[in-house]
Amino acid sequence: MSELSFSVSLATDEGFLGRECNNPQCSRYFRVHTDSIADEMLCPYCGQRFASNDLFTQDQVDFLTEVAAEKAMEYAADELRKMFGKLERQTRGNKYVSFKAGPPYRAKTIQPRYAERKVDSEIVCPDCGSRFQVDGIFAHCVRCGIENMAVFDANLEVIRREAAAASDPQRALRHAYNDLVSMFESMCGSRSSAYSEEHGSFQDPYEARRFFKKHAKVDLLANLNDEQELAVRRVFHKRHAWQHSRGVITDRYVRKVPEDRELEGSQASLSMSEFESAVIAVRLMLDALPPKAP
Ligand SMILES: [Zn+2]
Ligand SMILES: [Zn+2]
Repeated sequence: MSELSFSVSLATDEGFLGRECNNPQCSRYFRVHTDSIADEMLCPYCGQRFASNDLFTQDQVDFLTEVAAEKAMEYAADELRKMFGKLERQTRGNKYVSFKAGPPYRAKTIQPRYAERKVDSEIVCPDCGSRFQVDGIFAHCVRCGIENMAVFDANLEVIRREAAAASDPQRALRHAYNDLVSMFESMCGSRSSAYSEEHGSFQDPYEARRFFKKHAKVDLLANLNDEQELAVRRVFHKRHAWQHSRGVITDRYVRKVPEDRELEGSQASLSMSEFESAVIAVRLMLDALPPKAP
């Protein structure tokens, strides 16, 4: 069978091409600047690697299929015309049969019926220079996969924007606390594998400290003052309380944050100022993380 090849350009939005993760558990949308597209790319959300050709969105696939069908029609019609053209010549002057080739078929120009979706944030990776755009919280650069402070900062912007626009501020703060801990966990997790096979638990700042002290000889809390250290413990353990005990301050919480002993039994209250203090502290902890390779 012969191959019919032709090229089609996909529409972009200011140079950004839509992509859809090919991991069925994720399937999320992001956009990559055409200058930053490589043969292999990572999903910024789940971190799985794919060939760039596996990241077409459904809209793009529909459009490409439609264009391909038109091109195939044109090709087939052309082949038929050639055949009939020959018959026409061969039967010229024959009084019983005659053939007349019809007008040529030209592929219709297919206009895409979609526009690339808008997304939240644009990131330029400080490590590889890739430009991409994502929706909400994410973890990786689409090209080098690194989790870095640019990712952290872009995520914080999203968290702050969502908290400011929220109709239910406490709910937004619960998300914010949760996202901050998830980011910390994910960045610690990606560094930890270079130092130990042990699965660290990074939802507790002291556990994270213990892990990196033991395996990489660094103290994540070394640069925090007492106030910052307290803010981190409060945010991490209030987040735990909201995840596991509907926000109720239990004895577990009090063991981790004895400063809040008198709050036992009540519901943990969250605030943007507490969140922001913890952000400064988490940043100091992440700065103290050992390099990606020992
Ligand atoms: Zn994904
Ligand atoms: Zn990168």
